[in-house]
Amino acid sequence: MAKKQFKSESKRLLDLMINSIYTHKEIFLREIISNASDAIDKLCFISLTDDNVGMDRSDFKITIKPDKENRTLTITDNGIGMDKEDLENNLGTIASSGSYKFKQEHEEKQDDIDIIGQFGVGFYSAFMVAKKITVNTKKYGCDTGYCWQSSGADGYTIKEIEKDAPGTEIILELKDNTDDENYDEFLEQYRIQGLIKKYSDYIRYSIMMDVTKTRVKEDTKDSDKPEYEEYTETETLNSMVPIWHRRKKDVTQEEYNNFYREKFMAVDKPIRTIVTSVEGVVTYKALLFIPSKAPYDYYTKEYKKGLQLYSSGVLIMENCEELLPEHFRFVKGVVDTDDLSLNISREMLQHDRHLLTIAQNIEKKIKNELTAMLKDDRENYEKFFAEFGRQLKYGVVSDYGMHKEELQDLIMFYSSTEKKLVTLSEYVDRMKEDQKFIYYATGENAAAIDTLPQTELLHSKGYEILYCTEDVDEFTLQTLMQYKDKKFCSATNDDLGIDNDEVKEDEQDSDALLTFVKETLGDKVSEVTASKKLVSHPVCLTAKGGISFEMEKYFNAVQPGSGMKAQRVLELNLSHPAVKAMKSLIETDIEKAKKYADILYCQALLIAGLPLENPSEYTDLICSIM
Ligand code: ADP
Repeated sequence: MAKKQFKSESKRLLDLMINSIYTHKEIFLREIISNASDAIDKLCFISLTDDNVGMDRSDFKITIKPDKENRTLTITDNGIGMDKEDLENNLGTIASSGSYKFKQEHEEKQDDIDIIGQFGVGFYSAFMVAKKITVNTKKYGCDTGYCWQSSGADGYTIKEIEKDAPGTEIILELKDNTDDENYDEFLEQYRIQGLIKKYSDYIRYSIMMDVTKTRVKEDTKDSDKPEYEEYTETETLNSMVPIWHRRKKDVTQEEYNNFYREKFMAVDKPIRTIVTSVEGVVTYKALLFIPSKAPYDYYTKEYKKGLQLYSSGVLIMENCEELLPEHFRFVKGVVDTDDLSLNISREMLQHDRHLLTIAQNIEKKIKNELTAMLKDDRENYEKFFAEFGRQLKYGVVSDYGMHKEELQDLIMFYSSTEKKLVTLSEYVDRMKEDQKFIYYATGENAAAIDTLPQTELLHSKGYEILYCTEDVDEFTLQTLMQYKDKKFCSATNDDLGIDNDEVKEDEQDSDALLTFVKETLGDKVSEVTASKKLVSHPVCLTAKGGISFEMEKYFNAVQPGSGMKAQRVLELNLSHPAVKAMKSLIETDIEKAKKYADILYCQALLIAGLPLENPSEYTDLICSIM
């Protein structure tokens, strides 16, 4: 039979897997068991509405059979099984599962070995211990069974077989032992028992194995020298109690972490674990995790938000979106309730009163947890915020600011005075007495904002400035509009609400200068004013009206040609030598004075991070006066 090739990306990953020096080879069993459990979940779900399945919940099971003689380990389930197409699609490619993309990203950082262990690439991890894998399977509802076989990266074969019942049998032919590796350990009963306890204890279907035990021979019971005999008994290796059903004090954080990693294919440890059990109008248990790292696809469309929804211990929805608000979409977890009917349709679920109540409670719970973390565990909160802060800010902006009250105390901005992230409440609490507004400035990064001429006066007054370095930052503040009755004010606003007396003397007889510059620049600026905020810089641009320069840049980037333009006000520092020089040139050399005006305007554009309309004209201008 001709061998089919794995898809090319899969091949490379397989190679890596097979030759992995990863020490946690043992995780292969967890992966295989978890697949079996998922497959049973699927058939179990069908059995709720389809009597033809002919099985009860208690009939579903997973069986492990070690065979020391032939050095094989067989894992069997009576779940949904696979047809030919499933085999091709699921076991012929790794690339589709997202694991590959993940690994690719990490390959650059050269930490792929660890990733394999932590992330697991499911089924394929079996190649860490097996030289050959046989999968005998039959899908529920199909007549034909199939046998899939592969010895690794060189490909796989699929042929038809006779198989009675639906389900899947996976036979791992273990690799030969080497000086460093003893694969036989995976055939040892105590080792298998240990692995199941460690990784798969909560699996909700029995994991059965024939276990050999010793006992005192019946007829030697009462003698002085009792004799022992071996006997075999089929035993359920796992306790089957879902981890979210166990009391929090009986579960170690390590167990929660393992569950989180396996269930949600995560590589990180949760930064917070929330366990909740509610009895009342609605009754439910929830186990929620706040990740410490954003998944690689978090800020893409690929990422699916939602919690796993169980009803009376049966998984009824993998990703129930309705249970999480968009702004907490990073949360992972499970919710188990008895209050939902098992065969409820998706459409009905959306309007289900119980579900709505649970969702509201969960939202509150998450908010409280984050608030507590911010208060008591700042270091971790900052780590969390580095990963998901952007999401919270999107949350403020979205839905026309509907959630801003809920989220405003969870967001942070970099502060000019503290040189770290601060909350709005911290800012307001230490505002100076004469300070009218909460000031913010926008720019590429903190260093760039530090040197903005517009912030000079604010700095000199000792006012704290919040730095907006991400797209969403300024929108967030504009959506909030105010915090604790203090309005937000951009450093590039024409009115900072500050009286600066020193400048006022120079303002006398400056009208002619301002008119001259305005006439020279024409429509390029809407106004030319004597600056109240500049100290050492000659000029700056400020924006009038509702649109800021950052918004202009943003909109032109996402929607080129949108024509979104902030109204430019050119502010002159009348006591600056360059401006004074221009003023006296008006009398003596008007052409040169015009060049000065043009140059100063271009400089203001550059400082504001806005493009020059004509860069070569600008350099010509400079050269002409040099
Ligand atoms: P993942 O579980 O992350 O999707 P795997 O490589 O572990 O990736 O498995 C790939 C797919 O193969 C599964 O999603 C499932 O569709 C199918 N599969 C694996 N094992 C079984 C099984 N025992 N029964 C039915 N389908 C299975």
